[in-house]
Amino acid sequence: MDCYECSTRGGAEPAVAVCRSCSAGLCLVHLRETASEMRNGSVMPTCSHDTWIPRSRA
Ligand SMILES: [Zn+2]
Ligand SMILES: [Zn+2]
Repeated sequence: MDCYECSTRGGAEPAVAVCRSCSAGLCLVHLRETASEMRNGSVMPTCSHDTWIPRSRA
């Protein structure tokens, strides 16, 4: 699986983890990014991934 965040930007980093909220694959960079966002957002049950938005899949 590739990192979801990277693939939306045209990259292809291998995922090292899966988001608990949306099951998106995350590379190390985006895993940390998401973790810090969740920490800052305290009780936000959702993450910042737009996996629920239908996008044209290349
Ligand atoms: Zn990534
Ligand atoms: Zn997520």
